[in-house]
Amino acid sequence: MINVILIAPPFAGKGTISEYLVKTLGYSHISTGDLLRNEINKNSEIGKAVKNIMSQGKFVSDDIIFTVLEEELSDNKESLIFDGNPRNIKQAEMLLNLFKKKDITNYCVITLDIKKEDLLKRVMGRRICPKCGRTYNLNYKEMLPLDGNLCIDCKMPLIIRDDDNINTFNTRYQTYLDNTYPVIEYFQMNDVTVFEIDASNDLAVIFEEVKKIVSDN
Ligand code: AMP
Repeated sequence: MINVILIAPPFAGKGTISEYLVKTLGYSHISTGDLLRNEINKNSEIGKAVKNIMSQGKFVSDDIIFTVLEEELSDNKESLIFDGNPRNIKQAEMLLNLFKKKDITNYCVITLDIKKEDLLKRVMGRRICPKCGRTYNLNYKEMLPLDGNLCIDCKMPLIIRDDDNINTFNTRYQTYLDNTYPVIEYFQMNDVTVFEIDASNDLAVIFEEVKKIVSDN
C-alpha cells in the first residue's frame, strides 16, 4: 500500500493516525522521535548527543536523523508511515533522495489541519505507556486509559513525556511554522500528492478519510 508521509504540527494526532494504520492495515510506523528515544534508552552515543536537544523541543541534526532512519528502513519499500520526518526542507530533499536510492516510488503526503488552541488542550492530556509506547489522551473519550492511568494492553502505569509541557509546546509549534510547514509546498512543487485532513473532526471521521486515501491510491 502507498507510503504515507505525515506532516502536522505537534499534537495534531500523527501518532494516533499511525497507530490506526499499523493496527488496521498492517503499516510499519517509522517515527524518528521513537527511534531517537530508543537511542536514549540504550544510552548509545547518538542517545547521549540528542537527550538535551530533545527535552528542549529543538531539532536534532539532519545527519543524525538520516543515520537512524536509513538503518530502520533496510529493505522495506511499502506500507510505511513517516511520522515526524521530514521536519524541514533539507530533510524533505534528503527523504526524496533516500526514496530514489531505495527505489521507493509510491508515496503521498497527508497533512493535518488544526488550530493552536486545540493543540494546547491536547498537550496537557497526553499520556504514554512506557512499555509499548501506546498513546492516550485524558481529553478524548476514545483515547482514555484503563482505570484513569493504566495502559489497556500492558496494564503499566502511564507516564508524561519529558517534552510534554507548555514551554516546549510553544517552541515546537513556532519551529513547526518556521521550518516544517514550508515542506508541504516543497513536496507539491516536486509533484508529490498532498492530502489535507481536518484534524479537529472526531477520530472516527479522520480514520475514515485516511483509510479512503490509502485505499484509493
Ligand atoms: P516526536 O516524537 O516526533 O514528537 O519528536 C520528538 C523530538 O525528537 C522532537 O522534538 C525533536 O527534538 C526530535 N526529532 C524527531 N524527529 C526529528 C526530525 N526529523 N528532525 C529533527 N529532530 C527530530
